[in-house]
Amino acid sequence: MKNLLGGKGANLAEMNLIGVPVPPGFTITTEVCTEYNQYGRDKVVELLRSDVEAAIKMIENIMGTRFGSNENPCLVSVRSGARASMPGMMDTILNLGLNDDAVAGLIKRTGNPRFAWDSYRRFVQMYGDVVLGLKPASKEDMDPFEVIIDEVKERKGVELDTELSVEDLKELVVKFKAAVKRTTGKDFPVNPWEQLWGAVMAVFDSWNNERAIYYRKLNRIPDEWGTAVNVQAMVFGNMGENSGTGVAFTRDAGTGEDIFNGEYLINAQGEDVVAGIRTPQQITREGSRRWAVLANISEEDRSSKYPSLEEAMPAVYAELNATQQKLEDHYRDIQDLEFTIQDGKLWLLQTRNGKRTGAAMVKIAMDLLREGKIDEKTALKRVEPNKLDELLHPVFDKSAIKKARVIAKGLPASPGAATGQIVFHADEAEEWAAKGKKVILVRIETSPEDLKGMNVAQGILTARGGMTSHAAVVARGMGKCCVSGAGGLQIDYKARSVKASGQELNEGDWISLNGSTGEVYYGKIQTIDPELSGDFGELMQLADKYSRLKVRTNADTPHDSKVARSFGAVGIGLCRTEHMFFEGDRIKAVREMILSNDESGRRKALAKLLPMQRGDFEGIFEAMQGLPVTVRLLDPPLHEFVPHEEANQKEMAIEMGISPQEVKAKVDSLHEFNPMLGHRGCRLGCTYPEITEMQVRAIIEAALNLKKRGIEAKPEIMIPLTGTLEEMKNQEKVTRDTAEKVFAEMKDRIDYLVGTMIEVPRAALVADQIATSAEFFSFGTNDLTQMTFGYSRDDAGKFLPIYLQKGILQDDPFQILDQTGVGQLVQMGVERGRSTRNKLKVGICGEHGGEPSSVGFCHRVGMDYVSCSPFRVPIARLAAAQAAV
Ligand code: ADP
Ligand code: MG
Ligand code: MG
Repeated sequence: MKNLLGGKGANLAEMNLIGVPVPPGFTITTEVCTEYNQYGRDKVVELLRSDVEAAIKMIENIMGTRFGSNENPCLVSVRSGARASMPGMMDTILNLGLNDDAVAGLIKRTGNPRFAWDSYRRFVQMYGDVVLGLKPASKEDMDPFEVIIDEVKERKGVELDTELSVEDLKELVVKFKAAVKRTTGKDFPVNPWEQLWGAVMAVFDSWNNERAIYYRKLNRIPDEWGTAVNVQAMVFGNMGENSGTGVAFTRDAGTGEDIFNGEYLINAQGEDVVAGIRTPQQITREGSRRWAVLANISEEDRSSKYPSLEEAMPAVYAELNATQQKLEDHYRDIQDLEFTIQDGKLWLLQTRNGKRTGAAMVKIAMDLLREGKIDEKTALKRVEPNKLDELLHPVFDKSAIKKARVIAKGLPASPGAATGQIVFHADEAEEWAAKGKKVILVRIETSPEDLKGMNVAQGILTARGGMTSHAAVVARGMGKCCVSGAGGLQIDYKARSVKASGQELNEGDWISLNGSTGEVYYGKIQTIDPELSGDFGELMQLADKYSRLKVRTNADTPHDSKVARSFGAVGIGLCRTEHMFFEGDRIKAVREMILSNDESGRRKALAKLLPMQRGDFEGIFEAMQGLPVTVRLLDPPLHEFVPHEEANQKEMAIEMGISPQEVKAKVDSLHEFNPMLGHRGCRLGCTYPEITEMQVRAIIEAALNLKKRGIEAKPEIMIPLTGTLEEMKNQEKVTRDTAEKVFAEMKDRIDYLVGTMIEVPRAALVADQIATSAEFFSFGTNDLTQMTFGYSRDDAGKFLPIYLQKGILQDDPFQILDQTGVGQLVQMGVERGRSTRNKLKVGICGEHGGEPSSVGFCHRVGMDYVSCSPFRVPIARLAAAQAAV
């Protein structure tokens, strides 16, 4: 249903079926949008005409209205709605069908000229913008319609839209039409049918507007899906004091608490609540009281000026409250609702599963499970693994926050801690972020155009708008910290400055936001790492109950190992020894080893490294407390370690007692045209076995030293970049001989494994042979991807972004495992390896080990574990469980 009707259309139909009041309407399917994109407007109108005419007739009959009638006109909304919800990204037009005749008809029917003209001016404004294309000239300019409204308001000395008289509204209609004609050269269409077709096509077109395209990229929604178009009889929230419109959530989308909440406006229509034009009021009394405290409004003012819906219209509230419960019970998930009250009667205009923060996602899934509304497997599937990332983000340091100065207060629109430099325009936020700066996007209010800037910002601060404003909803969807409606801020876009508590801040100044309290602080504030507890911890236990795949971590230090264990890693899948080579004085010994002319020189330098490496391994083995640790022997090309600057070359010359020229000559001789395909990986160990000997000795001695102290260590020694069985056998022999030597010296033994990385395509092809020697495989999918595609990882930046943009590649294969191509090698490697050694232990240690869809693939090809960076361990654990259920 959703695929064809879009989410909005399908849910409107479903609400109607379960007895929720919805205005009559019909849906033009997403397939038509695809046809429109292929064959163009004329063809589609021809195909649809008779169906659409019949469907409009149906609406007219139900409502007792006629299109364009000067007695009782039929008015409709034309709404976009894709399969997946893309809030505000595409266009919608309200009050369609109005012209000079119809407005007279509307007055006759309702006896309310003000309402009729208000609807008419709104229609001309929306249609003029969306269909006829009258938009602001540049980012610093105001909306041309708003400019006209402001002129009229100023002349009349009024502030609110609701204070404009009938005559003012008439004037607006005339001026709007004239502005459209002047700027776009187009006449405003009078014929409702012409209006309707124009609107339908504009909605189709909005599928391909810039922000919709960007949103799809961000959320991985395919371009082919297209949008449906919903045409629906209008109901009016702008009919007077007994009417209104609002937005509500069945639970708190920020924290996940089971509290019905939302905002509404009396005598308003459509997007008024979200657009932040007037201060919206809360739906529940409780919510209203909480809001008043945050907004610094007294109880008297609150109950007289901003009463909740519960207080203002108790009967409507009761019905709305019952309806929200009904909808949540029906969909078994948090719902995001749009409703309108026309003259005391409630109508639902939309329901969808609410966007929520990572924290809310976890809490809601676990609460629904406890409430018995969903089962364990569903609870696991309800949480997007990547969203857990937000829960692993830093929070403000408690002592730092105490000392910080609050300069403004707004609504806690999307939780989290953010600190960054002020930027006022979305495109500038992008530019700054591209230069590696941390920015806070500060706006009067945000609109869908600001999406890209919001995405790269650390946090978002707006002066206007409530908890359901665009900024708030989008930020929660992105899991980005947001404070909205900080009314104390005076923002000047042109001067690029903001006044807060009497202080003027400029572009580039540092501020901090607490999205959980709504506080805005002056300056930069220290943050600390979060931990895994409560619902999050329970979710992780649930994940482990269902998953088969184990999750290890990539860690090179005791600190990382401890962090990863606290996130539930059950071993180290990749410990890179070369990272240990750069610390402190070690690099000198490493350089000495590389620059030596012969084996004895190398051995002398390696002897200096031995105790340091042994110490490192002891620290890591101890941190892992008996869990397996895969140690990879030296892998990178040697030239990465040698000194390239003259000063460093001189220093090494003194150290080694040779001439700087000799050092330079040696460094030059190490130059490779293609280092990633050069002298590296097991090729180092095969040519300089003494390096392997030293590293194996360090590993085994460390394990035996720990054993003496009663701590178990389980080393798994991993040979990198193997491509032939002979390489593997060569290195296995050096490893085992060295281990036996150490065992004899120390008169004790431990268990250990010798295995290899599979990262050269040939290794996957001859995996059956390699497995005769290797006791385990770990797929190094970074190198495997590089060599399978023939893309150099270090040079791919020149063309990969263009490939992605042109759709030549769907995803960056270095981020998301290419299951179709590289995946075949992985699958083949697993199968062939196990054909020789059926208990062969298999894992993955590339970046892909922490990426949910790739984790699913690893599960399906029967791997034993994935390994990823410490902060991605919880994500991989959940992805592993989802793959299993
Ligand atoms: P979006 O997808 O951006 O949310 P919608 O199609 O939901 O856009 O419409 C925008 C606004 O117009 C919403 O507030 C919605 O409730 C209101 N609206 C849409 N159709 C009608 C209608 N038939 N009667 C009254 N209000 C409507
Ligand atoms: Mg909507
Ligand atoms: Mg590699």
